[in-house]
Amino acid sequence: MIPAEFDYVVPDSLDEAIAALRDGGEDAKLLAGGHSLVPLMKLRLAAPTLLVDLRNVPGLRGVERQNGHWRIGAMTPHAELQDRHDDLGLTAHAAKGIADQQVRNRGTIGGSLAHGDSASDLPTVLVTLEGAVTAMGPDGAREIAGTDLFLDYLTTALDPLEVITEVRLPALEGYGHGYEKFTRRAEDWAMVGVAVVVLKNEDGTCADVRVGLTNMGSTPLRATEVENALRGQPLDEASIVAAAAHADAGTNPPADRNASQDYKRHLARVLTARALRSAAG
Ligand code: FAD
Repeated sequence: MIPAEFDYVVPDSLDEAIAALRDGGEDAKLLAGGHSLVPLMKLRLAAPTLLVDLRNVPGLRGVERQNGHWRIGAMTPHAELQDRHDDLGLTAHAAKGIADQQVRNRGTIGGSLAHGDSASDLPTVLVTLEGAVTAMGPDGAREIAGTDLFLDYLTTALDPLEVITEVRLPALEGYGHGYEKFTRRAEDWAMVGVAVVVLKNEDGTCADVRVGLTNMGSTPLRATEVENALRGQPLDEASIVAAAAHADAGTNPPADRNASQDYKRHLARVLTARALRSAAG
């Protein structure tokens, strides 16, 4: 449980961080909260030769409202999101369910998205809300939509020299939300998780619904068949149960020591119904 030897720098600006990554070569890595990278290093599943710690780079932390969006700095820890239910809705709900308070104090939203673990909660939130990240590299900044960010398990569209600087999430005024996560122990990663946001028409029918799935494939997924089944329908128990029956359509959940594929498919259907009920409630 001792990492391989590495160098460590703490740049004072984004430009310095990008330059350090470039000069450090292909085995240089950014360090945010360290709660995904350092465990991998201790297990020697990752052996970066240089860690570029983002802690002193200004402007990467905090939550602010900007034109119908929430702008969240990449170095904002989960703990700063978890109590902002009135502002951040689904994001706060999912952040509060991540591991334990120690992990939430250190782990960051940028680190979680860059790591690209399909069992993590915030990647699913990004995909469900149709948010985006801003990535800064040697050639400037570019925006990457959440739907384009996750390519495969632990694989994202980020270039090795790019730093996520901020996350932009639509505020979705008037939407209800739900996040249901099934774990063996309270602090575990999701065996399966389901994120839902719903907008109701005045007559109680569904104007818009988005459903995201955690750990049901190699990337976070959208349950589009559930969404299509529910749009325009009354948000009552019969419609919710009928729509949730499609939750595992098109998924390929990884079987692991906690759950078979079939069990995860069953969980996806059950948790989708629960998340829809709380979002519509
Ligand atoms: P780091 O570990 O510092 O970095 C992770 C990766 O992202 C590295 O490759 C790094 O180079 C890269 N990176 C970091 N920041 C940036 C950036 N700004 N731009 C580009 N690349 C960057 N997560 C959940 O979602 N749900 C859970 O239930 C959960 N349970 C956990 C339980 C335990 C015991 C632990 C230790 C972690 C758990 N996590 C869980 C993961 C936790 O949320 C991590 O903190 C998070 O996934 C990574 O964030 P970090 O800031 O620690 O990133």
